[in-house]
Parts: sequence; C-alpha cells; structure tokens
Amino acid sequence: MKQFKTESKKMLDMMINSVYTNREIFLRELISNASDAIDKRYFRSLTDESLALPREEYGIDISIDKENRIIKIRDNGCGMSDAELEENLSTIAHSGSGTFKNENTDENISIIGQFGVGFYSAFMVSKKISVRTHAIGSDTAFCWESEGTEGYTITPCDYAPFGSEITLYIKEDTETENFTEFLDQYKIKELVKRYSDYIRYPVRMDMEITKTIPAEDEKAEPKYETVVENQTLNSMVPLWHKSSSEVTEEQYADFYKATFYDYNAPLKTIQAHIEGTVEYETLMFIPQKAPFDYYSKGYEKGLTLYSNGVMIMDKCGDLLPDYFNFVKGIVDSSDLTLNISRETLQQNYQLRTIAKSLEKKIRTELLKLMKEDREKYTTFFKEFGAVLKFGVYNEYGANKDTLKDLLVFKSSATENFISLKEYTEAMPEDQKAIYYASATTEELAKSLPRTNLVRSKGYDVLLFTDEVDEFVATTLMNFGGKDFVNVTSGNLDLSSDDEKESVKALNEESKELLDFMTETLKGEVKGVRFSNTVGEDPVSLVSEGYLSAEMARVLSQLPGHEGMAMAQTVLEINMTHKIKDTLKNLFESDKEKLSAYTEILYAQARLISGLEIKDPVKLSSQICDLLV
Ligand code: ADP
Repeated sequence: MKQFKTESKKMLDMMINSVYTNREIFLRELISNASDAIDKRYFRSLTDESLALPREEYGIDISIDKENRIIKIRDNGCGMSDAELEENLSTIAHSGSGTFKNENTDENISIIGQFGVGFYSAFMVSKKISVRTHAIGSDTAFCWESEGTEGYTITPCDYAPFGSEITLYIKEDTETENFTEFLDQYKIKELVKRYSDYIRYPVRMDMEITKTIPAEDEKAEPKYETVVENQTLNSMVPLWHKSSSEVTEEQYADFYKATFYDYNAPLKTIQAHIEGTVEYETLMFIPQKAPFDYYSKGYEKGLTLYSNGVMIMDKCGDLLPDYFNFVKGIVDSSDLTLNISRETLQQNYQLRTIAKSLEKKIRTELLKLMKEDREKYTTFFKEFGAVLKFGVYNEYGANKDTLKDLLVFKSSATENFISLKEYTEAMPEDQKAIYYASATTEELAKSLPRTNLVRSKGYDVLLFTDEVDEFVATTLMNFGGKDFVNVTSGNLDLSSDDEKESVKALNEESKELLDFMTETLKGEVKGVRFSNTVGEDPVSLVSEGYLSAEMARVLSQLPGHEGMAMAQTVLEINMTHKIKDTLKNLFESDKEKLSAYTEILYAQARLISGLEIKDPVKLSSQICDLLV
C-alpha cells in the first residue's frame, strides 16, 4: 500500500468527513472527467485511426447495483497509465493547497470550493473507490484502489476496452445522513439532468420501467411488467449552442418556462455568442411579469453558469448588476474552469469580464427594443422601470450613464412614454431646460399652475409620478447639456429682463407687508414674495435649494425621517391677481385679518401642489369666518 502525499491526505480526509453539504456534485465531477477523457481520445484518434470509435459509440455508462451499494461510471475515453494514475489520482496538483488545516473548518470548505472538488469528491459518498483503467494504445490495464486516507494501491488488472471504469462503494446511512438515495435510479437520472444535461456525449443508464399490459378481457385487471430500458439521460445539445435560426420561439419559451418556473413566455429572448478576451455563449430572458418574490428580500438575482456544458452554479449573482436583476438565463464559457465557486467569484477575472460584457449586451438589447417596439418596451418599463430608476439613484449615481438612455417618462404633450433623448430633441430652440412636474398622479402633475405656465411658453413638461423620479433627475442633474428644472422651482427663469425688473421693484416696495406675512408663516416657508410666474392662481408654492416640496414629502415618509426633510419653500403671490390689493389694504387696516388671510393662502397653495394641510380644522373655521 502506498501513502498519499501529506496535502492529498488532508484533502481526502476532509472529503471523507466532509461537512460540505453539496455532496451530490460528485456525479457531475465524475461525468465531467469522463467527458474530458473522451474528448482527449477523440482528439488523438484524429491522427491515430487505431484509437477511433464510431462517433455514436462514445459515451458514458452508469450502472447501479442497489443490493451491493455500488455505482459504476464507465467511459470509453483516453484511460490512464499507471504513471498517470499515480500522478492524477494520488497527488493533488493544485498549488496553494498547503494552506489546508487539518480540521473541518469553514475555511477548509471554502478551500474545497476554490480548487474544485474533482475526483476526490466521490469520497464524500463512498467508503471505497476502485478505478479500472486502460490507457489508449497501451497493453496493460491498471486498477487503482483506495479506502481513503490510509493509502492506495495500483495493480495491473484485466480490463479490455480502452477507457476507465470508476466503481463507488457507497457509504452506509447514518442517523443523520442518507447515502442510499444515490442508489436510486431516479435520483441519478435527476442529478444527470440537473448538472450534466449538456455534456456532449450520451450519459446512458439501464432504467427499470414498469409497463402496463392491458388485459384482453376488459373487466380483468391490467398486468404490469418490469422491463429494462437503456436510456440516454442527458439532452446533449444545449439550446444556446444552436443558432437562433434553428430554434423556434416556442422552444425558447418552453426552455424558459421549464428552467425558470414561469407560466408566461418571456417578453424578450437574448442570445449571443461573444468573442473577446473571454469567449462565451449566453441565452437570457426578460420576463413579462416580475416573479412573485421579486420585491422581497428573498429574491436572488443571477444567471446559471456553465463551463463547457457542465453546470457549475445555479444562480451566479455576480454576473448581473442589481439594476438588471430581473434578467434570467444562462452563461456558458469554455474559458472557465469547473473550480469556480461562490468564494472566488469576486476575484475571478474571467467572470468579471463576462459580467461587464453582459451588462453591455443587456443595455444594447433594451435600447433596441425601445427603438423597434415601443409598446413592448413600455410593458417592460412598467414592470421593471423602477429598478432602472433606483439604479440611477443608487451608489451616488455611479451607474447613471449606463442607465439614463433607458429611462422613459410620460409628458404633458404626448400620450406615450418618451425618452430623455426624444424630449430634448423635440425642444424648441429657446428652451433652456428640461422641465418636470412632480406629483402623486399624472393628472395632478399636469394641472399644477406652473405646468400650465411652462406649457404656455410652448415647452413640454415631463410628468413625474414615481416617488423616485425626482431623485433620478437630481442625480442625473442634466441630460444632453440641459439641466433638469422642477416647474415649481424658484429659479424657473421664464421672464424677460423688463418683467424681472418690475417684479423686483414691487417686492422692494412691499417689503414690510411681505416680512409680516413671512413672520406669520414662520417655520413653514422661507419667504413670501410677489411673482409674475404663478399662472392663473392667486398663489403658488415654489422650492429653493436641493429639495422640492414633493421630495420633502417622499423623504418625510421614510422611517426615521419624519419632519427631518423640510423643503425650502417660498410662497409666491400672483402679482397680477386682485388678491395683491386686498393684502396691501389689510396691511394698512387690519393686521389680524391679514394673518388669517396669509394662512388661508398658504393652505391653498399647499392644496394646489398636492400636499396635505397641517390643520384642516383651523382652516375650516378661518374660511367660515370669511363667509358669515
Ligand atoms: P481535474 O478534473 O480538475 O483535473 P480531478 O481530480 O477530477 O481534477 O482529476 C484529476 C485528473 O485525473 C484529471 O485531470 C484527469 O487527467 C485524470 N482523470 C480523472 N478521471 C479520469 C477518467 N475518467 N479518464 C481519464 N483520466 C481521468
């Protein structure tokens, strides 16, 4: 008996006593090794005909002997010589494995993941493994055998065909662990389907199937018969390897529905073969409807990751940015090793490259959809637009340039959603800014006095009704060189120089009146002034500084923010409205009445802006006083 080298021994020990929960991947590892071995033989046979098999005979055969607790996995690949057995199965070649600790610590589990579990993973389910193998072109076959850490033997043996046969002697069940499940043909079939469906060689197994034989006499019970049927368990050709012209919409939809558990067909399918520093295939889908758990904490974004047809991860979250978290699909790259695990994604250069290029691809496809099928894009945007908007706003706007062209908004001049590009392109020459009106509903935003004022100048106004919209605008700051300006903002700047002069003069001569009114509304507004840009109403609320009244409203609803976010609002009085003279007169004759009027006007201005009023009872009695 030969001893394993120290590092291999530690690794083995960990496998045998593994607390690594994902035991079932042993089958994937062995099938993947077998497939690689067949690749190698096939390759060699191209220059050495004596090694060739008819193409359809290459394959991997699994057999189960339930009674004796044995699973065999046979391939007709390249096989191994005794020297290769020594080198491949008796030493761990991976550099850096010296960092293993002896114990089964979490750290070690992450190391298992990092280097890939490979052949040794079979020790997670086996008490003994024997490998009979016959290297192509060699006279002698060899048997490698081991019961774990004690050591291994390599002896010549009889094994006629070229290739390898791995025999796993499955562990006995314990109180907490079930190994017998791996001796169930349906379990094995499921595992092959799940992890190795797209291996390019057939994975075959004899399945015992019960067939019903109808009785000749209708009243008699039908008979049952158990037959053995050799089945190919994997489908072999991944959909994403086929050219899109070979695949029907329906096939894509079926694949999508079955793989991602959705009742609806996808809204859009994206297939691509990308060549670059890292080569990969991808098949992605945009769902029609957000999954039921989409807005819950439990929702996990990610694409299924394959390395050369072998699945290596179910949901690889790092492949998708948060703002494209609705995308479903797969990525398959032959440049990735099987050894990637959750722990190494951050450091993996190839994965990062793929993620970058996927992001670009998704963005391009969405832009294309926006251009070519606005109705579909609108459906998409209604479902997932909020995620894009949060993407702009999050991380201090780090991704705003990626996302800004994907945004669409309703506007006062058009029925449909329009993009910022479309808005700015349609702007009259003298329009200086992108105007928007923010309110809880489209109707309210449209009916704001300032919206009408801006519209009367011939400018369109974007209607912001999502709470995040205004935060998006303030994060973007500008688009195509034009600033975003809230129609209720204090610096709307729509007047001529002469008009500005007359407003200024009026405000200066009425300073005492305005100060009195400001004092009355102390703590509520920053100031009161006359203005020529109110529109038709007597008063209007405008904001100065970063926060608009609407943003302050949204922020104040956040837990912990109550009362914290005060907008810097100014009460503007329409200087062309008769109310101006009333106020001036009251300032001379009845200050008490003026106070009440000021409060009523302020409440009115809040109502017009879609904001609530603080003391409705007081307002009601003030109005009543006016009426009686
Ligand atoms: P990896 O596949 O990541 O290299 P493994 O521990 O799974 O690591 O396998 C080690 C090596 O053993 C393989 O690289 C291969 O050379 C050899 N090997 C494993 N299984 C087979 C097989 N069925 N036929 C031929 N060679 C094999």
